[in-house]
Amino acid sequence: MTERATLGVRAGQRRTEFHEHSEALFLTSSFVFDTAEQAAARFTGGEEGFVYSRFTNPTVAMLQDRLAALEGAEACVATASGMSAILATVMSFLKAGDHIVCSSAVFGATVQLLNNYFGRFGVATSFVSPTRVEEWRRAARPSTKLFFVETPSNPLTEVSDIPGLAAVAKQAGALLAVDNVFCTPVLQRPLELGADLVIHSATKHLDGQGRVLGGAVLGSTKLVMEHVFPFLRTAGPSLSPFNAWVILKGLETLELRMQAHSVAALELARWLEGHRAVARVFYPGLESHPQRALARRQQKAGGAVLSFELKGGREAAWRVIDSTRLISITANLGDVKTTITHPATTTHGRISPEARAAAGITDGLVRIAVGLEALSDIKADLERGLS
Ligand SMILES: *Cc1c(COP(=O)(O)O)cnc(C)c1O
Repeated sequence: MTERATLGVRAGQRRTEFHEHSEALFLTSSFVFDTAEQAAARFTGGEEGFVYSRFTNPTVAMLQDRLAALEGAEACVATASGMSAILATVMSFLKAGDHIVCSSAVFGATVQLLNNYFGRFGVATSFVSPTRVEEWRRAARPSTKLFFVETPSNPLTEVSDIPGLAAVAKQAGALLAVDNVFCTPVLQRPLELGADLVIHSATKHLDGQGRVLGGAVLGSTKLVMEHVFPFLRTAGPSLSPFNAWVILKGLETLELRMQAHSVAALELARWLEGHRAVARVFYPGLESHPQRALARRQQKAGGAVLSFELKGGREAAWRVIDSTRLISITANLGDVKTTITHPATTTHGRISPEARAAAGITDGLVRIAVGLEALSDIKADLERGLS
């Protein structure tokens, strides 16, 4: 365990007068004041303290402080989901007429949010290659306010050069936001690599056991508290204290889980690479990964997610999926339970076949998010459909 593990277990805890050992769950929508004068001071922010759980709650505050410590961020605001973290970021920093440059290999709902919703309010988005920094430079305009990237990408695990993108964003006068869902701060700390903002879907590894939805935006006090926090306070896509408590406890085992996921995923990736039914494996820890050197510089390990292409196309891919008895057939990831999905007909099923082909999502591609079961059981479950 590293010193970050200590932060995951200890950072941000606030004990009450009862000296509870485990963090307390404050299920309360509002807080009471001693006097009218105190209430007034709390509302103006003149006095620190809790007011109303849309924007201040002790359990949520503990989660925010712990996650900030892990990411090396000055500030964090928790949100109801990963998507509301992205919504809050764009709402906080952009206005009609502004422009976003975004990786073409981001979460499907992110593409929908930027195109179908922000597009309607006059915020335009250009989608560019996650791996060719030059494209980002060319796509930037005077109105560009935000660069948005997710690395490694899903499902092909393409790795984006965070310091390279940070330099281009700075030249363009834009903020760089990194969706750090796949690595978590255990494996990658984008702020140390030059990013301005980190976005999380806490629904994935931060909870880690598939129980609740949650999200977060992290960065400097100036960016987060002066821009994102007022949006959250006003618009209210806030994290519930119950979900915050679940995720807070999830952070205590985050380092242990991410290390175990990464060890198992690398071994599974190597095994699949040697399998005669498999044409190709995509995993940042493999020697064969096109951005292997970059991944080594930027990430401590490869993480839980890998994908592989079957020689037999869609039929073979579905056979592997349908032959599983242990692995869960679901598009979710970041769980202790291993999951398997066919991107071409699920997560990427709504995009055109041409766009899918251009993105490298072939019909034979299968994605696995490796959980914490015995690797021998996972292999046996896959072998049934592979052979
Ligand atoms: C799941 C996910 C999101 C969205 O998070 P929700 O909590 O489901 O709203 C955003 N980005 C990535 C990379 C994700 O995997």
